[in-house]
Amino acid sequence: MTDATQKETLEFQAEVSQVLDLVIRSLYSNKEIFLRELISNASDAAEKLRFESLTDASLFEDDPELRVRVLVDKDAGTVTVSDNGIGLSRQEMIETIGSIASSGTRRFVEALKDRQDGDASGNSDSAADGALIGQFGVGFYSAFIVADKVTLISRRAGLGAEHGVRWESDGHGSYTLETMEKPGRGTDVILHLKDDEKEFLDDWRLRSIISKFSDHIAVPVEMLKQDFRSDEEKAKDKEEGKDEAPEFERVNTGQALWMRNKSDISDDDYKSFYKHISHDFEDPLTWAHNRVEGTNEYTTLLFVPKRAPWDLWDRDQKHGVKLYVRRIFIMDEADKLLPHYLRFVKGVVDSNDLPLNVSREILQHNRKIDTIRGANVKRVLGLLETMAKDEPEQYQTFWKEFGRVIKEGPGEDFANRERIAGLLRFSTTVGEGDAQDTSLDTYIERMKEGQDKIYYITADSPAAARHSPHLEMFRKKEIEVLLLSDRVDEWLVSHLSEYKGKHLQSVTKGELDLGEIGAKEEKEKTEQAAKEHEDLFKRLKDALSERVESVRASSRLVDSPACIVVGEHDMSANLARVLKSVGQDAPSSKPILEVNLDHPLVRRLESESDQTRFADLSLILLDQAELAEGGQLDDPAAFVGRLNKLMLGLFMSGA
Ligand code: ADP
Repeated sequence: MTDATQKETLEFQAEVSQVLDLVIRSLYSNKEIFLRELISNASDAAEKLRFESLTDASLFEDDPELRVRVLVDKDAGTVTVSDNGIGLSRQEMIETIGSIASSGTRRFVEALKDRQDGDASGNSDSAADGALIGQFGVGFYSAFIVADKVTLISRRAGLGAEHGVRWESDGHGSYTLETMEKPGRGTDVILHLKDDEKEFLDDWRLRSIISKFSDHIAVPVEMLKQDFRSDEEKAKDKEEGKDEAPEFERVNTGQALWMRNKSDISDDDYKSFYKHISHDFEDPLTWAHNRVEGTNEYTTLLFVPKRAPWDLWDRDQKHGVKLYVRRIFIMDEADKLLPHYLRFVKGVVDSNDLPLNVSREILQHNRKIDTIRGANVKRVLGLLETMAKDEPEQYQTFWKEFGRVIKEGPGEDFANRERIAGLLRFSTTVGEGDAQDTSLDTYIERMKEGQDKIYYITADSPAAARHSPHLEMFRKKEIEVLLLSDRVDEWLVSHLSEYKGKHLQSVTKGELDLGEIGAKEEKEKTEQAAKEHEDLFKRLKDALSERVESVRASSRLVDSPACIVVGEHDMSANLARVLKSVGQDAPSSKPILEVNLDHPLVRRLESESDQTRFADLSLILLDQAELAEGGQLDDPAAFVGRLNKLMLGLFMSGA
């Protein structure tokens, strides 16, 4: 172990420099955001102190007025963002600032690498990089956009003055860490500006950036009071001992944006507030701002982002909105205020009626919270419905990013199932592409006369769904089928059996009955044929008894010789595959093999008298049916062996 007081030099992980280069390059056109990011961190640190002090008032030490200061030293060429918030211990500094261990940054680097690996030209597309960064939020690292050296001096509230820590880095390869005296708690981030970034030494420039990006921050953001004295006057005052302690004045108005009247807030105000709370670089897609009065008074301001954050699928990651009680920040990521399937929503809930010392535990069982949550869900669903109706293109953007999350909804939120179902979009057999852009309402409008079910197929890729043999008869009869190939789709259809009174029916399950909608003839033909080919079914069943439950004539097939079907209430083959692939046991009920009696291969099979050849051909037929719908064979080598035998037979016979 290193002696914690000595100066040590620590290496950044290899990727850090890469991230920094990228940050600098991509955000260069937007460089003033460094100040927003640092003030935002400082204000978070102040809010954290306020919250921790609810249980430990001594953390305030003798400095109870929380504030952030932006200080300029023209001679030294530095800008300092200083806060008297919670501060960082040496260990916290190593964990949060000094390394790339922060999972957000790590995932960012991974995404970046994935992209670069995919781009053999090695060219970098800075617009795309910028968008990528937008998904992560660069936070502290944005300091290196304008600084060639950053010094961070911090002390954790509650630790003695001797526990100050000094961190310093030029952003290349390593940083130093040193323990030092720091009487005041909190953090100073000192930016040694690059030569060509000296514009940020200008008082007015800084003030205007603060007003633009950080105006609503509740904690005062202060700058030195402007000094209009001339140099001579200053010198004279100094001589006469009139130089008093520096005076600061507040730059931001600090008015909680959500408390203002809607009519006084511009779209730009909303957008910049959103960027502040979400660390997003892009504007939100839409938002809702509401005040509820009565026995449970609260205000909500909820935003739908344009882009999914990298951690949307990370189970351990906390999501949710910020909770305030009477303008006082209580917690980030209050996940009780929205259900999991709306976890992408950002925003603020400010309650007038909750106790200030509310904890996550209290939130679990609080009727006021339940009411707020219910209202939040209705607001967000309403926002999405309006967007889908009035701005369908925008809604497509939304759906691409968040559709898979919304699909968790019907399983999670029984009460709103029908409304959520109305928001779903699918790719279907009508149309070519894989874009998910058809709603259930559109599907219902397009239903054939006499059709009373919504048909769908689940498969593990869009191509496997679209080309499944199960769709042949539907295609022939021009009956639309929803193509489901997101993993979550199995979960969705297991919780959504009906929409507007129409049953959702898998085309791979049970007996297909399209008799009502124009396939009457085929059906009768199949029934008739089935009687005439009892013998074939029996032979097939005997040959395949280990793998299939039964064999029957199919009325779904047109071009393919065979397909696999499961019972109406059995688990779909696709779900069984999904479960297997994540190492879970899937109940192993045997499927039904359906054969197409019109197919020449099936005819040929029927006339095969050699029992061994019949068995081989039957197995090939079954394996092919599995493969055609995206399944994997338990014994692929055996399949290949049989196929080769068959091919050899063909060559030998000179065919
Ligand atoms: P983010 O803010 O998105 O977590 P940052 O890179 O901006 O990412 O900061 C990383 C972490 O460093 C923060 O989560 C916080 O724990 C810590 N940190 C940054 N600035 C400060 C500060 N002024 N005071 C205390 N902690 C800070």
